[in-house]
Amino acid sequence: MSDQPLVGRIALVTGASRGIGRAAALALADAGAHIIAVARTVGGLEELDDAIQAKGGTTTLVPLDLKDFAGIDRMGAAIFERWGKLDIVLANAGILGVLTPLTHLAPKVWDELIAVNLTANWRLIRSLDQLLRLSDAGRALFVSSAAAVNNRPFWGGYAITKAALDAMVKTYAAELTGTTVKVNLLYPGPTRTAMRAKAMPGEDPMTLPAPEDLAPLIVEMLSPDYDANGEVVRFTR
Ligand code: NDP
Repeated sequence: MSDQPLVGRIALVTGASRGIGRAAALALADAGAHIIAVARTVGGLEELDDAIQAKGGTTTLVPLDLKDFAGIDRMGAAIFERWGKLDIVLANAGILGVLTPLTHLAPKVWDELIAVNLTANWRLIRSLDQLLRLSDAGRALFVSSAAAVNNRPFWGGYAITKAALDAMVKTYAAELTGTTVKVNLLYPGPTRTAMRAKAMPGEDPMTLPAPEDLAPLIVEMLSPDYDANGEVVRFTR
């Protein structure tokens, strides 16, 4: 069906329990993909499952803390056993940490930022690379942030993880030259989610684009005919 260009495709979405990941998972399911939904909050995953099933889509729920790196490896093995390939990866899960001067950042917060925003994404690449290569047109999109290049005071912990994520994904893209796999980066811009509310508590959320507004761009960037590789795309309203 022309309105379901992703029928038959298997899509893994991290951070699918709320925010941008949830909206993107719904849109990918609307386009026909089977959604492997990853997050820690089981209630959020189950609500997503209900919403997708209500529209005739299908999901596999993976309650997983992405700091469980061995769990990421087990997930890759399970995907290989069940489907023998993976067509789409939306690596979206992320945390803000604490907005504070670098000198005040607690080592525990630093370690968690690096673990979730950077190392988990490297472990996803490591675990899922062969599966993406087994697809006829593997597509991966990593959700980064303009904070990576803005270097504003107090945003350092978060910004550093996103800058490193950008370097990692661009390197991976270069290593994929000559394959059918394409990987890219997205800077969503300010979006009406729990993370943004934590960063900007005084802001009126209704002045911001909703996660659903980003979803069409995300689906486009994860479709087989999206041919760019190693690019940073900024969402603009
Ligand atoms: P939310 O806080 O709304 O959602 C974050 C998602 O990440 C949740 O589904 C959460 O699931 C998941 N997650 C966090 N930690 C873990 C973990 N340890 N293991 C598994 N999953 C985890 O954030 P947004 O939707 O706003 O953010 C999505 C992405 O967009 C992030 O990478 C963020 O940096 C980026 N971004 C957001 C912007 C914005 O304005 N909102 C602007 C620029 C970039 P759970 O808690 O259930 O595990």
